[in-house]
Amino acid sequence: MKPTIADRFQPKLDERQAQSLYRQRPLAFSPQRPQMQINGLPMLNFCSNDYLGLAADPRIKQAVCNDDTAGWGSGAAHLVTGHHLHHHLLEDELADWLGVERVLLFSTGYMANLAVQQTLMQKGDRILGDKLNHASLIDGALASGADFKRYSHLDYHALETRLEQSDAPSLIVSDSVFSMDGDLADLAKLQQLANKHQAWLFVDDAHGLGVLGKQGKGSFDHFNLPIDADNILVGTFGKAFGTSGAFVAGSSVLIESLIQFARPFIYTTAMSPMNALATRTALKLLREGDDLRDQLHANIAQFRTGAKALGLNLMPSVSAIQPILLGDSAKAVAWSEALKQAGFWVSAIRPPTVPQARLRVTLSAAHSDAQIEALLSALAHIKKADI
Ligand SMILES: *Cc1c(COP(=O)(O)O)cnc(C)c1O
Repeated sequence: MKPTIADRFQPKLDERQAQSLYRQRPLAFSPQRPQMQINGLPMLNFCSNDYLGLAADPRIKQAVCNDDTAGWGSGAAHLVTGHHLHHHLLEDELADWLGVERVLLFSTGYMANLAVQQTLMQKGDRILGDKLNHASLIDGALASGADFKRYSHLDYHALETRLEQSDAPSLIVSDSVFSMDGDLADLAKLQQLANKHQAWLFVDDAHGLGVLGKQGKGSFDHFNLPIDADNILVGTFGKAFGTSGAFVAGSSVLIESLIQFARPFIYTTAMSPMNALATRTALKLLREGDDLRDQLHANIAQFRTGAKALGLNLMPSVSAIQPILLGDSAKAVAWSEALKQAGFWVSAIRPPTVPQARLRVTLSAAHSDAQIEALLSALAHIKKADI
C-alpha cells in the first residue's frame, strides 16, 4: 500500500505542534503600518520589513491611480509582451541610483537569487556561502549544480582557506545585512578576498537598501566601496521600498546573460507594470528620504538603549533588525503570546529558521517615540513576570 498524503504528513504536522514550531498566517485587516488590525484585533506592529513606512504611503497609491499608460496586468513575460515602459524606466533609475551599468527586474527576491546562481554557475564550479545566508540564497546554491560549501558565520579565515583549496571558478555569496540577526557582512573583506582569488562576489542587500548609505544606496555605499565588475548585487522591493519584487544589478554582460539564460527570468510573467510604477515612486521617496532614515536610526537607538537598560539580550546590529535572544522555542512563543495579549505584534523566530530562538523586533521610521516606549514597558513587564 502506498501512503496517502495524510499518512505522510499528519504525523509531521502533529510533531510540529508538539514542539511549539507550528506556523500560522496572521490575517491583516488594515494597510501595513505600525497600527494594524491583525486577526481582528488592534495591534502595534513591530515585525514588518517596511523600514521607511512606505508600504502604505498615499503618494505611491496616488501615482498608480493617476497613471493611464498601464493596466494592472503585465499580460506576459518580459521577452514576450510584458516589458512595459515602467519596468524599463525603473531599471534605468535603479542603475543610475546605484552607479552600475545595468539592472534587471525579477518578480521576487527568491527568484532573483535562484536565477543568479543557476545562470552563473555550472557543474565543477564552487559556491561558497555564509552559514546564515537567507534561505533563498541557500536554495539557489543547491539548485545551481555547482559544488556548494558553507563557511561559519562571518568566518572569513575559513572562507579564504576554502578559496585556497581549489582553482575551480568560485562564487562567494553573502547577505549584507543578515536577515535574522541584523548584523553586517564585512563587504570590504569579501571584496578583497574575491579580488585576490579571482572569485565573483554576490551580495544580497535586501535589508541594507533604503536603510544604509547615502540616499539609501545600501551596504556597498555604507562601507564606501564601489560595485566592481565581477560583483553582483541583489535588492528586493518588499523591504524598505514598501512594494514587492526584486532586481539584480551589475555589469551589462551580467544582465544580458541573465536575460538570455536565466530560467526564473524567462519563464515567468513580468511583475505588474503598476507595481513597477509604484516602485519608481518609492525609489524617488527613498532617495530623497534622509529624514526617514534619520528617524529610523533614532528609533533603532531608542529601542536599543531601552532594551539594554532592561537587561535584554540584544545582538550587535546597526540595522532595523533587532532580535532579542531568548534561547528556547517555548519561551520565545510565550513572550510573543504575552506581547500579543498586550497588543504588540512581534514574531517568535525558532529553529529550524535560526539556531537560537528569539523575538525578531524590527523598527520602522513610521514608529513614534511613544510606541517604542510602550513596547519597552511591555517587555519590562514580561521579563519581570519571568514567563
Ligand atoms: C526577503 C528576502 C529575500 C526574498 O525576497 P522576496 O522578494 O520576498 O522573495 C531574499 N533575501 C533576503 C536577505 C531577504 O530578506
